Parts: sequence; C-alpha cells; structure tokens
Amino acid sequence: MRSTDILIVGAGPAGMTAAISAARQGARVCLVEHGPEPGKKILSTGNGHCNLTNVQMGPDFYHTSDPAFVQTVLELFSRDQTLGFFRSLGIWTFEKNGFVYPRSEAAKTVREAFCLALSEAKVSLFTETNVTGLRPEKRGFQVRTDHGDFLARKLIFAPGGLAAPKTGSDGSAYIWIKSLGHRVDQMLPALVQLHSDSTFCRETDGVRVQAQLKLWVDGKKWESQTGELQLVSYGLSGFPIFQFSSPAIRLFEEGKQIRITADFLPWLGEDEWKTWWQTAALAFPQRTVAGLLSGLVPPKVAAAAVTAAGLSNSVTAARIGKEEENLLLNALKRQEFRMTGYNSFDRAQTTSGGVPLSEVSPQTMESKICPGLYLAGECLNADGRCGGYNLQWAFSTGYLAGQAAAR
Ligand SMILES: Cc1cc2nc3c(=O)[nH]c(=O)nc-3n(C[C@H](O)[C@H](O)[C@H](O)COP(=O)(O)OP(=O)(O)OC[C@H]3O[C@@H](n4cnc5c(N)ncnc54)[C@H](O)[C@@H]3O)c2cc1C
Repeated sequence: MRSTDILIVGAGPAGMTAAISAARQGARVCLVEHGPEPGKKILSTGNGHCNLTNVQMGPDFYHTSDPAFVQTVLELFSRDQTLGFFRSLGIWTFEKNGFVYPRSEAAKTVREAFCLALSEAKVSLFTETNVTGLRPEKRGFQVRTDHGDFLARKLIFAPGGLAAPKTGSDGSAYIWIKSLGHRVDQMLPALVQLHSDSTFCRETDGVRVQAQLKLWVDGKKWESQTGELQLVSYGLSGFPIFQFSSPAIRLFEEGKQIRITADFLPWLGEDEWKTWWQTAALAFPQRTVAGLLSGLVPPKVAAAAVTAAGLSNSVTAARIGKEEENLLLNALKRQEFRMTGYNSFDRAQTTSGGVPLSEVSPQTMESKICPGLYLAGECLNADGRCGGYNLQWAFSTGYLAGQAAAR
C-alpha cells in the first residue's frame, strides 16, 4: 500500500493544475490517469492553438444555476492569477479579439509545460491506471487501482465530463463519485452542432457565412449571436450555434420547441434592402434572381433563398413583384430552422450537467457531503461558453482544490 497526502484521479487540465498547486505547497501528490498520457484533450483545444482563457471573464459567460459560486471561484483564482501560473510553467500568452492563447500558438506546448511542471514538482504520475475500488477511512481514503493500492489523506476527482470521450473523459469515474454520496445532474453535450430538418441546410451544405442568429424557445426570443454560421446538410454549426447549444439542448430535452432564425444580411436594413433590390433589378432585369442575390450572399445561400421564397431557379429579376420581393426578404433576413436534435458527446467540446455546485464549497472545492474529497473541472455542473471559459474553469477549480487539499 502506497501512502500519499493527496491522490488525484484524472490528469486533464483540472487534475494537473491541482497536482502542481498542491505539490508546490509541499504535499506528496499521486496523479492517476487511465489513459496512456496526461492532458490528451488539451492537444485538440482551440483547433490546436489552445484558447486558454478570455479577457472578458465572469459568471455571465457560464451556464449555471449558481452564478455566485462561479463568481467566487473566478475571484479566488482569477484570469490574471491563471496567466501568472502559466508564466510559472514557462508559458507566455497573447490576446486576439479577447481570446487568450499561448505565444507559441501550439496547444502541445501547454501540455508539455504541464508535464515538465508535474515532474519538477515531484508529482508521481501513474498512467494507464484505473480505479478499481474506493473506501473512505478514518485517516482518508483507500483507493484500489490496477497498479496497486493507495492510502490518501485527501482525494481529488477531476475526471472531466463526457465530451470527447476518445480523450479519456468516458464517465467511468462517476461510479466512484456517486459511491461517496454525490448526485450527478443529467449530463448533456454542449458546444456542439444542432440538427435541423430544414431543406435550406441541405441546399447550402458546406457554406460558411456571417449571419445574425436568434434562438427562440416556445416562440420567445432567448438570445442572439452574430458570427460565422456553418451550414451543414444535417443542420447548423459554427461559433454562434455553439454558443446557443447548451441552453438549446437542455430546453429541447425538456420538450420545448426550439427554433433558430438567421439574418444573412445583418448589415442591410429592410428599407436599404428594398432600395438595393429595386436598383439591382432595374439595372439587370434579365439576370436570374439567384444570380443577382449572389452579389450579396454566397451563391448557395442565394439559390436556397430563391427556393425558400417559392420561386423557380430560372426566374429573372424583371418577373419579380412586390409580394415576391417580400418573400425574398424573409428568406434572407428571417430564415427559420427548426431544431430536431443535436450531435453526440463524440463531437461536443464540453458537458452541461454533472455534480451539483450546491454539494461543493466554492472557496475550496471540498465536498460538503464527504469531507476530504474535492471535485474540480468539467465534472462540476457549470459549463462555459466558447472562448476559453471551460479551460479557465478547469484551471480555477483545479488550483483551488489543490491549494485546499494541501493545507
Ligand atoms: C475539441 C475540443 C476543443 C476545445 N477547445 C477549448 C478551448 O480552446 N478553450 C477552452 O476553454 N476549452 C476548450 N475545450 C474544453 C476543455 O478542453 C475542457 O473543458 C477541459 O479540458 C476540461 O478539463 P478537465 O480536466 O475537467 O477534464 P478533461 O480535460 O476531460 O480531463 C479529464 C482527465 O481524466 C481522465 N479520467 C477520466 N476518467 C478517469 C478514471 N476513471 N480514472 C482515471 N482517469 C480518468 C481522462 O482520461 C482525462 O485525462 C475543448 C474541448 C474539445 C473536446
């Protein structure tokens, strides 16, 4: 039996941050990872560039039932402290449109810096190691693994959620978290593509276009986003859709009717559109409508808008009256997509749901149910928007857990 001050399950950003912060305080730390290598998910973050955090930070950028909890965490280990922590790992950062990246712009340098810091802090890392048994004891926890038994004074669980399970976060640790008395709120994919049965999607497959999007829940406007929309044959993707995905999926699962409307001409008001159309139609009466609209939007969007307006692809501008003009306006500025589903955890960047925040102290991440147990990262029920918020959550909760467990 190996005795240690702290045993951490899960070597993702949350578990590795916890390990470094605890070991730097002098604690003996063992880090158990069931994958072949630590921090695998970091490699795919930010399209390989790793969007570490964001200039704008606060609870508004998280989906949570307890914003005060998130606020406390982000104050106790803030973005600026996180950047200082990264400098202590040898990683300098820069900011692009508010998004913060490592200077190298390479996620692998972040993973590498974590690995070096773990070894410099003398953290004992056990890869390809599964937890096979867990028992709370008077002096801590007895943890059985397939590479031997541990007696740990404190235990930190940082096993991630269910997103991108190929990187290791496969949900296998939840059996142990539950066995220690915790609840796990329904876990759903977030930051993921949404499905729609709209023919518009099929006709515009592969197009990327700037648009203003609105999310509607049972007919009421929920939120709006502007950015690059990606149209795919089965639905919608891209930054604005990812931002909608967490509430859209949860409300969809609750049986609500979810719709998204797209304005493909957010820079053109309705009156300006009318002026544009009349001028263009007068100048080029023999051109097809789709051809004329291709002056404003990508050709596939123009052609799909003509179909959505109920017009033939060959109809020329000269044949369009006031009514058709309004139908085209609707197709381009109020195109509607009914949500019919969403992609699975395989394609998701994060998880909504998890261990309720009410069961954990925001100052220390210690469990209120099982003293000596700490929880950090994506396994907690708070999910960030796109833009570095999920990694910041992993770093802040991991750091606080490591500090507190080492006391
Ligand atoms: C493609 C992609 C891109 C992303 N890009 C960004 C981005 O740019 N910015 C951002 O902020 N967020 C991004 N995210 C989200 C972010 O990566 C995660 O929210 C973050 O990694 C969560 O950290 P974590 O340590 O809690 O969990 P994870 O990173 O999932 O790590 C958990 C670790 O625990 C291990 N583990 C699980 N179960 C067990 C067990 N039973 N025993 C032992 N070990 C176990 C896993 O193998 C894994 O190594 C992205 C996610 C994906 C999938």
